[in-house]
Amino acid sequence: MGIGITHLGSGSRGNATLLSSNDCNVLVDCGFSLRQTEKRLNLVGIEPESIEAIVVTHHHKDHSKSALNASKKWGSSLFCNNGTAARMGWSPLEECITFGNLERVEFSSKLSMLAIPVPHDDSDNVALIASDRSGDRAAIVTDLGEATNDLLDHLSGCKHISIEANYDHSRLINGPYPDSLKRRITGRGGHLSNTQTAQILRKVVHSKLESLVLCHLSEKNNAPHLAESEVLHSIGDEFDGSVSIASQKGPEFSNWTGQIDPLRLAIA
Ligand SMILES: [Zn+2]
Ligand SMILES: [Zn+2]
Repeated sequence: MGIGITHLGSGSRGNATLLSSNDCNVLVDCGFSLRQTEKRLNLVGIEPESIEAIVVTHHHKDHSKSALNASKKWGSSLFCNNGTAARMGWSPLEECITFGNLERVEFSSKLSMLAIPVPHDDSDNVALIASDRSGDRAAIVTDLGEATNDLLDHLSGCKHISIEANYDHSRLINGPYPDSLKRRITGRGGHLSNTQTAQILRKVVHSKLESLVLCHLSEKNNAPHLAESEVLHSIGDEFDGSVSIASQKGPEFSNWTGQIDPLRLAIA
């Protein structure tokens, strides 16, 4: 059956991604209001109470907003690292379960996850590599200043990669943001440009890479066609899989490892 990856929404106004195996559902990030998150889960046919665990990648609001409330309401375990727990003020014994860098977290007999620390803007952010029992692996990497060697190693074996493509360099530089914010976005602690994302993918592309989702696109400084064409220009020769763009508005498709094309959701 593999691992299912469904972006319920992605961008600076909120992020949440559903990871599914046939015995378990996990939510990666919970950056929308509780009501909005439940609405989006219902759209894809998932009962919120069936969410086994919520994993928060880092403390920024667009990833963490309703995570604690959702975990209490749905009875889901809340996972994050120590740095994020401290920044959120979550008690590691009573409110959340903390994991260490490169520590494997088992959600069920079929689905587990590894957290890889990544540099991003005064946070203890992690990229997540989900694995199922058959050895399929899927990566979710958002909010990344630059790739580390550890991250590149782990991306190299994944059948699916969801990765941010935050901004088009010339749109950002010529755009309305103040210089200080432009510097923060482009710095090591900021976000990836389409060019940086394309370069990372070029290093990790392999014959078994089936699907890519570009996510966390800036609404002001990027456009889906710019991100997609830059990535395809960089990896097109070696890549036979599909490229999709995660929208801020809501879920539009699901990817499953073992399949190249995304499944379009009827509600899209
Ligand atoms: Zn973010
Ligand atoms: Zn962030």
